[in-house]
Amino acid sequence: MSKYKFIAYSIFSFFLISCTNHYTKQLVKVGDNTLPILIKNVNIFNGKDSVVLVNKDIIIENGLIKTITSNFIPKNKKVFKTIDGKGKTIIPGFIDAHVHLSGSGSVPWENISANEVYNLAAYLYSGITTVYDLGGMASDLKKLATKVENNELLGPTIYHAHIPITVKNGHPIPLTKELLGWPLRSLVNTISPTIKKKEDTEKVITNYLKKEVDYVKIICDQIPIGSPEMSFDLLKSLINEAHKKGAKVFVHIGSPQNAVDATKAGADVLAHGVWRGKLTVEQATIIADSKIPMIYTLAAFQNVNSIHKGTYLPNEYDKLLVPETILNPVTGKNGLDVKNQKVMGAFFSDVTDKSPFWLDNFKLLKSKNVPMIIGTDSSLPGTYAGSTYFQEMDALKEFGLSNFEILTGATYLASKLFLDNPDFGIITEGKKANILLINGNPLEDLTLIKNPETIIKNGKIIVKVN
Ligand SMILES: [Zn+2]
Repeated sequence: MSKYKFIAYSIFSFFLISCTNHYTKQLVKVGDNTLPILIKNVNIFNGKDSVVLVNKDIIIENGLIKTITSNFIPKNKKVFKTIDGKGKTIIPGFIDAHVHLSGSGSVPWENISANEVYNLAAYLYSGITTVYDLGGMASDLKKLATKVENNELLGPTIYHAHIPITVKNGHPIPLTKELLGWPLRSLVNTISPTIKKKEDTEKVITNYLKKEVDYVKIICDQIPIGSPEMSFDLLKSLINEAHKKGAKVFVHIGSPQNAVDATKAGADVLAHGVWRGKLTVEQATIIADSKIPMIYTLAAFQNVNSIHKGTYLPNEYDKLLVPETILNPVTGKNGLDVKNQKVMGAFFSDVTDKSPFWLDNFKLLKSKNVPMIIGTDSSLPGTYAGSTYFQEMDALKEFGLSNFEILTGATYLASKLFLDNPDFGIITEGKKANILLINGNPLEDLTLIKNPETIIKNGKIIVKVN
């Protein structure tokens, strides 16, 4: 890294973490975890199969699901923290497959900075025990991930990319400049990984992987419309190089053509649904035949649309988790102020223009069995850590996903996006004890998941502070 680039990174990082913020409420704390846990007579949705196992006993020890059995009798007077699971269901902890921990959720005209620590707590409060960050400073995300791993910080396990690879002046550069304002905007060009020509592919991917990322993120979209977009050739070249070096690639897409290009170029995951245009049957078939999973982020686009129209209203869960200083500027008519923002205004307006295509696009993809993964793109204006996760599930249900499809897309399917053998996302012996205890059967009533009775992360009970 050049000296100038290093200084730019350092200044950027410093400003990001030193701004004041408006999140102060404590949301979660660690419960009493001195004993191994025994959950008795509980039903299990393992995350993968639509059949629920009934009346099982689960033993959780040393952070893992140690045993799943029936009629367990402790040997040698061993003492457990026993939980009565009668009438309840165990499900895997949720995975939010598309987050930005360093997103504040605020609007550019308020300039409130992010509080990653609070965001992490809000995810965990909502039963989300794993997050995939799809764009932020890798060095900062790495620090956060390590703190969570070492129990210095309470939150979901973090996997992360770095700032996405794009073309000169392509998304997210214009939007990031507008969101950050002075003085950070002047550094955005320097710190954004960009590619100009095919010959630079190896250098770009090598530098990206040096950031110790868990996967690569590439942008193929126009935000705002008319801005420079990654060509198919460059995209394919980058993905090939990443694969050669053993890394999986998430591609941010917008238009039907972007989605087809990303699919044909060999992307591993599409980081959004197809929102910027009408998908044809032919295009949907290409996407579906590749079996590529899609993190839909439907709620994020619906929220952008309603903010732009001046009709956005936070739901009860948003109000519980998100401070008014973040919510007020986008609530109701206040949201119309976005039209004064050059880049964000143009983007929001484009989203509203394209919203009539969304339901048909979704139905087409679903009819061809494209795997749908639950992710939010939080925190953006209208889209927040934790609360939007449930809004996303509701939105996908309204569009036609079944409760099983939603729950498996939030757990097992999401765990397989970039890891071949993840140690989470499924309830089975030997895996990490990331577990939610739900009062009732969420496959029959999805509303039950909004309030898990018990949240267990890495074998530790997490207590909500209300
Ligand atoms: Zn994103």
